[in-house]
Amino acid sequence: MSVATENAETFASLNPATGEVVAEHPVHDDAAVADALARAREAAGWWRALGWKERRLRLLNIKGALTRNLNRMAELIHQETGKPVQDAQLETIMAISHLDWAARNAGKVLGRRNVYPGLMAINQRCVLEYQPLGVVGVIGPWNYPIFTPMGSIAYALAAGNAVVFKPSEFTPGVGVLLAELVAGVVPEHPVLQAVTGLGPTGAALAASPLVDKIAFTGSARTAKRVMAACAENLTPLVAECGGKDACIVDSDADLDAAADAALWGAMSNAGQTCIGVERIYVVDEAYDAFLGKLTEKARDLRPGFDREAAYGPITMPSQLDVIERHIKDAIGKGGKAVVGGPESVRRPYVEPVVLTDVPDDSSAVREETFGPTITVHRVRDLDEAVEKANEGTYGLAGTIFSGSRSRAMDAARRMRSGMTSINAFAAFAQVAALPFGGVGESGFGRIHGADGLREFARPKAITRQRFASMNLTSFDRTEKEMARVLGLINMVHGRRYKR
Ligand code: NAD
Repeated sequence: MSVATENAETFASLNPATGEVVAEHPVHDDAAVADALARAREAAGWWRALGWKERRLRLLNIKGALTRNLNRMAELIHQETGKPVQDAQLETIMAISHLDWAARNAGKVLGRRNVYPGLMAINQRCVLEYQPLGVVGVIGPWNYPIFTPMGSIAYALAAGNAVVFKPSEFTPGVGVLLAELVAGVVPEHPVLQAVTGLGPTGAALAASPLVDKIAFTGSARTAKRVMAACAENLTPLVAECGGKDACIVDSDADLDAAADAALWGAMSNAGQTCIGVERIYVVDEAYDAFLGKLTEKARDLRPGFDREAAYGPITMPSQLDVIERHIKDAIGKGGKAVVGGPESVRRPYVEPVVLTDVPDDSSAVREETFGPTITVHRVRDLDEAVEKANEGTYGLAGTIFSGSRSRAMDAARRMRSGMTSINAFAAFAQVAALPFGGVGESGFGRIHGADGLREFARPKAITRQRFASMNLTSFDRTEKEMARVLGLINMVHGRRYKR
């Protein structure tokens, strides 16, 4: 359900392609956020008490409701972000898969298990279980307004928490609709509430002592503010931030496949993808052929709001200035625009831009552009490609195209990022079992997979003494007992290990 507030001010979510108002939503202030958190606290107790099986059933039914409303959700995403309907459908399908995985695996990953106590504590029964945190605050971005927050929401709910979700001010309707669908399936308690508003609504959520964890997805700049707010109450935080991901093309790569994937990675969703390809490093021998294929395909792409458009407008108007600045900086520093140029920025759209020979100190290479622009660089070999890919403060994901499995695997391991996809773009994002998250300014903590479930739970360790054995932690312990233990330890751990 969405939170109703009396006399609250409202704000409008706009269609970025047409400028039309999609809907008005309330601006939830500190008091409204506190109310939502208080309701969530009650809901959390009830939800936790339901247990794994009952929660799983309800979550699978939420998945069913979302699936039956897939087109409605996709149309709303299309209206609020401007992205093509099919992309919005694809995004919703990915969100559905994650919800399914989280629902089916939470009990397995987080449920009670016995742990071997080790020789010294052989008289103890050891139980490990992962308990819910309570109330999780999810703060989301607009670029994938259902897929991205679902990476936190599904896993937090499956772990037994209630969630208060603050969707981006550019896509509030998506959050409200999701909360409505959840309320339809789980009418008893508001296990998912949407609070709408601008930055201050998110700030109220992060600063509240009533929230047990914040799952933030957005820019690194805002993440730092959120982290500072969380510090006040020592509220833990998982931060999923931006990136400047690289695609590496090896000399023996399938260049058609590489150009196709790199172009999609760079330009789909108008380049507004945290794990989007922003830089391409191509090994010398393959450079000319690859660039030819890439530019040929890039010239065919047309932005628009119609069904045939390759991608939509820039959702956040202020980003247009950033994109323009990066293109100009690249060219000003000696780069060449081989497709498009500064004139490609035709508000609210940006036509494809392919830049080459851009120096490493250009903002087009160093900062997140978040537009349908790409820099292509010639490198000596795979080692130099990895070295260049690893430069900079971000480290979210990356792509490698290579004909050699061992070279690609080795380069993938050396890539400074949370995820790397070989011979495909961002395949990891649709594999619910794999963790998702970055290093450096791309954030910390993980969503998705078993790690994503554990992110929203706290491990609880319980030991129960089954019989009395040597009492070493007592003032009554004897010399004899201690000598026996020392002998045992020597026998078990004192030997020399051979290869
Ligand atoms: P943003 O940082 O501007 O906003 C994100 C959210 O934070 C919004 O809901 C916003 O209202 C809220 N917010 C703003 N100020 C706040 C404050 N002081 N306290 C608390 N909340 C506040 O980001 P954006 O423009 O919505 O999203 C784009 C960014 O998100 C890009 O950098 C992109 O790479 C990143 N992103 C990362 C991932 C990932 O999984 N790593 C996924 C999608 C997007």
